[in-house]
Amino acid sequence: MASSQSFEVTVVGGGLGGMTAALALRHRGIRVTVLEQAPELGEVGAGIQTAPNASRILLGLGLRPQLEAIHTEPQDQVRRRWKDGSVVALTRLGRHCKDKYNAPYWHYHRADLHRVIMDACTDPDGPGPLVELHTDAKVVELDRTDPLRPVAVTSDGARFESDALIGADGIRSRVRDLMGGRDTLRFSGEMAFRALIPGDLIAADPATRWLVDRFQSTIWYGPDRHLVHYMIRGGEYLNVVACVPCTDEVAQRWVVPSSAEELAEAFPGWDDRVPAMLSKAKEDVSCFALYHRLPDPVWMDGNVALLGDACHAMLPYQAQGASQAMEDAAVLAEELGAVTVDGIRPALRRYVDRRAKHAGMVQQASFKNMTFYHFPDGPEQRERDAKLEHFDGESDVSYEWLWSGTPLNDPDMGAFSYQFSR
Ligand SMILES: Cc1cc2nc3c(=O)[nH]c(=O)nc-3n(C[C@H](O)[C@H](O)[C@H](O)COP(=O)(O)OP(=O)(O)OC[C@H]3O[C@@H](n4cnc5c(N)ncnc54)[C@H](O)[C@@H]3O)c2cc1C
Repeated sequence: MASSQSFEVTVVGGGLGGMTAALALRHRGIRVTVLEQAPELGEVGAGIQTAPNASRILLGLGLRPQLEAIHTEPQDQVRRRWKDGSVVALTRLGRHCKDKYNAPYWHYHRADLHRVIMDACTDPDGPGPLVELHTDAKVVELDRTDPLRPVAVTSDGARFESDALIGADGIRSRVRDLMGGRDTLRFSGEMAFRALIPGDLIAADPATRWLVDRFQSTIWYGPDRHLVHYMIRGGEYLNVVACVPCTDEVAQRWVVPSSAEELAEAFPGWDDRVPAMLSKAKEDVSCFALYHRLPDPVWMDGNVALLGDACHAMLPYQAQGASQAMEDAAVLAEELGAVTVDGIRPALRRYVDRRAKHAGMVQQASFKNMTFYHFPDGPEQRERDAKLEHFDGESDVSYEWLWSGTPLNDPDMGAFSYQFSR
């Protein structure tokens, strides 16, 4: 897949989006430098789901053996009602996803997934030039005196000059501001508790044992709130994301430490299985304010472009934020990999054209799910539940569309697909 093009790209931000972009660019023979503000590269202690649209890209980057070592595979996606836990709808995952979408639906610990991608960026035996990683490198300025050679300036005054600069620096992107991007950041009014519950506690209690007997991705719907959970690391932890109306404190501080008691108390009157599960959380329960961005068709200016949450941060109500960033990475690498240094600007424009509308639809569908998930019991809730019984997808977005992903046009497309043996 590597081409003879050799120019330099700086990626600002070493999250899942930035690192996937660095790896995909490396595979195209492009020299990449990643600047990350944190003292160490890594991810928060939480789970992540990759639907087939994202799995296909990761597997296409040659990560199959590493991902097989760290993934957990859910057999179904189950939607339950808050009051009695009755099943509203069930979508087959597991083998069904591999057969239908030629890529799996997998769960991971975020730190494991991030490490696999990072290691592949710096593996001396991997294809393309090694990715250069700088930590403690907070970008504070862009110097665009030479528009063809943007310079990222870090807080210690160091200068990183390259042919193209990609801002993958998350929802509060500095690169976006410095590039002159529109203010599209919005507060949703909601927050998410995140917790990892030890799997052995879940397995030991007959009231929660069902969670380890069959791995599933579960969403409980209730008035004003919903709950998502799934196993990671083969049952070592139950990952929980619980979305509820936001408190003023969390809205102001973005992230606030919490506790198992607060988590369980946030679901009063729910089916007994819910408090039985949530009360087993130990340390490391946190609350995150849920901000998002409005869809925005302009992700670039000259030789500077954005990727991931920096351009299309979305509510986690379809579990697609990082997955969309991975789609960005694949398309960006296709476009930049096909040009020489003179073609960078039109290549970035094609990248944005191919991705902005698609990601905007996912952003909007995720936003719509805030209402769709949280109907009070009544006619709208019944209509929703009836729809979900017959529709593979959520709000108006079908899984057929979402999980097929942005079409890739590379002649080596075979490398981005993945046949599973039976
Ligand atoms: C509760 C919750 C659950 C979610 N679940 C899923 C899921 O199951 N599946 C899924 O696909 N998505 C999920 N998401 C969304 C996903 O987490 C994000 O969309 C994704 O992590 C964004 O990746 P990113 O690389 O664009 O940004 P980030 O992960 O935010 O990375 C940005 C990086 O840039 C660095 N940085 C910031 N500013 C600077 C600077 N000035 N200089 C240098 N470095 C800088 C940061 O330190 C960080 O490392 C979820 C989100 C939430 C909140």
